[in-house]
Amino acid sequence: MAAHAQGSDQPPAGHPGGSDQPPAGGHLSTDEFRRAGHAVVDWIADYWQSLEKHPVLAATPPGAVTRALPAAPPEQGEPFDAILADLDRVVVPGLTHWQHPGFFGYFPANTSAPSVLGDLVSAGLGVQGMLWTTSPACTEVETVMLDWLAQLLDLPDRFRSHHAGGGVIQDSASSATLVATLVAVHRASGGTWRDAGTASHGYTVYTSTQGHSSIEKAARIAGIGERGVRLVEVDPRTLAMRPDALRSALNADLAAGRRPAIVVATIGTTSTTAIDPVAEIGEICAEYGVWLHVDAAYAGAAAVCPELRWTHAGLERADSYCFDPHKWLLTGFDCDAFWVADRAELVEALTVMPEYLRNAVTDSGAVVDYRDWQVPLGRRFRALKLWFVLRGYGAQGLRAHVRCGVAHASWFAEQVRADDRFEVVTPGPFSLVCFRLRDQPNQADAALVDQVNESLLDRINASGQVFLTHTRVDGRFTLRLAVGAPRTERRHVAAAWELITDAATDLLRP
Ligand code: PLP
Repeated sequence: MAAHAQGSDQPPAGHPGGSDQPPAGGHLSTDEFRRAGHAVVDWIADYWQSLEKHPVLAATPPGAVTRALPAAPPEQGEPFDAILADLDRVVVPGLTHWQHPGFFGYFPANTSAPSVLGDLVSAGLGVQGMLWTTSPACTEVETVMLDWLAQLLDLPDRFRSHHAGGGVIQDSASSATLVATLVAVHRASGGTWRDAGTASHGYTVYTSTQGHSSIEKAARIAGIGERGVRLVEVDPRTLAMRPDALRSALNADLAAGRRPAIVVATIGTTSTTAIDPVAEIGEICAEYGVWLHVDAAYAGAAAVCPELRWTHAGLERADSYCFDPHKWLLTGFDCDAFWVADRAELVEALTVMPEYLRNAVTDSGAVVDYRDWQVPLGRRFRALKLWFVLRGYGAQGLRAHVRCGVAHASWFAEQVRADDRFEVVTPGPFSLVCFRLRDQPNQADAALVDQVNESLLDRINASGQVFLTHTRVDGRFTLRLAVGAPRTERRHVAAAWELITDAATDLLRP
């Protein structure tokens, strides 16, 4: 809400010493806050209820939202109702509705009622948990939630806080990869990185050609540079990293005097959900003394289901692992769960202790200070939304959500397979289906078929009922349908398939 007028020497209304009248422009009184808060919760509930009435994808042209906003902030505070009304007028038309049941793009970024309410409590508490002492509950709830999650996913014991490891919430999988890269370089430098940095040391980073772009970004930020990133060849059939190619890349770099620092293996690549052979990669990393980080940003959530845990085989060899509850586990953005096997090494790499943060309990070594586990100093109470979600759904509810996504995707893949005009490009075990119109015998030109597939995607998305995205597999245009929004039912997936087949019939008409 707007603060009191600048330059005024009056205390803000509603504060001790201020007027008892709750004016527009001052702090809300407690009762006003209660009313406004209920109105906001009602607004969100109405929004969720009305999702299907909106086109999934925002139709606003660039600059339209900017033009709908005043060029300058208001001088006087405004009534809360006016602000709420502008959500409908300005914001909603400019939204792509990620919680829409027809949202099948990218990977899901789903949320849920418990997550929203947990976040609301966190916002209301307004604590900053950089140190244990700045809010012990903020740290300890987080530690316990990450241990709970480790149990739910059946992660190796070494990642749990009663062993040498432990978990922390990062804002994103990208930050997790960055932090892993920094500790890996610290290890590869024999501890000299903190003083010497990375310049001209020739550190190298390995991932597959399918690894996420955040790995390259982390290498840039860490001072390794893109020249130090090796994109290891994949098996053309599974799109999984080839361990023999990894070994060759390591040998070539060592022979050239470079210092291999980290391998990032992926469980569920962004493009097609390929799964790298983590066990074999882990053996190689152990042999060469290289840090192994496993990025399971989207697919990690699948391990809440025992029947999908095979996808995590070999994880006991990883030095660090992350997945995003904010993708497929009903926890609103931002919430990346990141674990390390050796928390002491992580803290040693990142800690800096200025006098103004010094305190007796940190000095005693008895507590975790999560500021040492991440790039920023400050941190909010994100564990609350996770706590609300894990308790609100229970393991059974979370498994049901993941199984539902997997079942819808598998039903969709069956429809694709049953239609001769289409092919499933890479069958994955999760909730993503990659598919396309096949090359027809009379269409020799691959580029032409790619264009038809691109037009197919444009037509489907223009319907407003669904939103799908694309990738290229082996250079060929491929459509992706990722299930995971909390309100997606079979009828929405069936409607998507009907739109796709109708559009294909139109496009393929001679
Ligand atoms: N890693 C993988 C495998 C991903 O699929 C993604 C995003 O889709 C990311 C990392 C980046 O995720 P975040 O937005 O949490 O940084």
